[in-house]
Amino acid sequence: MRDCVLLLESDADRAEVDRALRRLGVWSVALGDGTALQVASHSQAVDDRTLASLPGVAKVMMARSEHPLLDAQAGVAVTLGQARGASAPVRCGPGAEPLLLAGPCSAESEETAWQAAAMAAAAGAKVLRGGAFKPRTSPYAYRGDGATALRWLREAADAHGLLLVSEAMSEAHAAEVAEYADVVQVGSRSMASYGLLSAIGTLGRPVLLKRGQSATLQEWRLAAEHLLAAGAAGVVLCERGIAGVDRETRNVLDLGAVALIAGIDGHAIVVDPSHAAGRRDLVVPLAQAGLSAGAHGVLVEAHPDAGNARSDAAQAIDAATLQAIGASVRKAAQREDG
Ligand code: PEP
Ligand code: MN
Repeated sequence: MRDCVLLLESDADRAEVDRALRRLGVWSVALGDGTALQVASHSQAVDDRTLASLPGVAKVMMARSEHPLLDAQAGVAVTLGQARGASAPVRCGPGAEPLLLAGPCSAESEETAWQAAAMAAAAGAKVLRGGAFKPRTSPYAYRGDGATALRWLREAADAHGLLLVSEAMSEAHAAEVAEYADVVQVGSRSMASYGLLSAIGTLGRPVLLKRGQSATLQEWRLAAEHLLAAGAAGVVLCERGIAGVDRETRNVLDLGAVALIAGIDGHAIVVDPSHAAGRRDLVVPLAQAGLSAGAHGVLVEAHPDAGNARSDAAQAIDAATLQAIGASVRKAAQREDG
């Protein structure tokens, strides 16, 4: 909920208004002579119509938002696309079933792509992830197989009834990624590349937007706004860990951010425990923690030969571990139903 000011009717009973607000879990501060109340956005999620209907409230004035298009998608799941042979589209966000997105860091080979797609489908994933254009710290590291890898991934995804998400790293390749992938990924290193965001938004696709490792929540929301302003069909935010003080648990999976973005802002958000942990033994507990915090899905790196993946091998999980995460995602779905 955005900050707002409630203007009270002249004969409003202040104590009654306060009681009604408390019942909604909303805290307020009286302004000036007490005929206006400031309601802060860290109050529990309550919509402005509910506030306007309270006895004694004459008007609700919302604070101006810097990201009106992102706000407009609050409370609504993002449609990611419809997999080949599926009867309904896959959605991610508020009101949709928690989603598993899984696959290798990089596609590496046709065989890897197919085996990973089979692993993902068997674990209950609806979306195959796989890198074709890889951002690597060293220019001499394996940087992916580009369009060839996109073709492997597309065919493997189609054969297993999965959607495909893959990263576009440069404006030059954005259209090519969108030709093969249903969802275009913006990597954490690119979150603030505004030219790239506009180029990807123009493609009119749903976008998975990773949080920059030192980005504030507002910078992240505004990056989503850049995509939507350029024409993106919807944005799913992805918390993948932020810079911390200790490299043993590489990046800190910001669970407070997940709870806030999902529970208070109402935006579609998934967690990526793989890039947060940087090590496979922490991926399951972090995935579960993300779901408990309210994430609408989990994006994980899984590989048929986990220890020998060409990129991010230390965090790649095997088929059995992926099954365990699939079970956690289904459990979260049952919690939501019940
Ligand atoms: C990835 O998903 O493979 C990746 C490079 O992630 P991030 O941008 O979060 O580092
Ligand atoms: Mn990776």
